[in-house]
Amino acid sequence: MPHQSGRILPEVTEESRPFWTGGFDNALRIHRCRSCGKWFHPPVGACFRCRSRDVGPEQTSGRARVAAYTVNHHPWFEAFPPPYVIAAVELEEQPDVRLTTCLVDCEVEQVQVGMAVEVAFDLQDDVALPFFRPVTA
Ligand SMILES: [Zn+2]
Repeated sequence: MPHQSGRILPEVTEESRPFWTGGFDNALRIHRCRSCGKWFHPPVGACFRCRSRDVGPEQTSGRARVAAYTVNHHPWFEAFPPPYVIAAVELEEQPDVRLTTCLVDCEVEQVQVGMAVEVAFDLQDDVALPFFRPVTA
């Protein structure tokens, strides 16, 4: 159901809570396996590579690169005036960990595959949506 902001907010589970609330401390938290050291997303209770259950959220740098993107031109939601960019970004820590997100603070024409981006949280009542913006410096 759309929130009053017009956003459709995620259903937060025990396992996904660190991901959806990390933005309140400005931390992008992604699940990591303590047995094999690999990161993975979405957060679940076991590592899909080595089956270890010794997994949990860890803070990342919040930096990523655009792996793929599309520009939406259709006014699906009143709160999202088009055009806007929906992107898959790959984490700096481990590029095969990808998040589907929106790019903010940038012009649509500016976006390129490989572009360096950093997390920019959109704080709602009890979730912080991890969007990404171009790294400026
Ligand atoms: Zn593992």
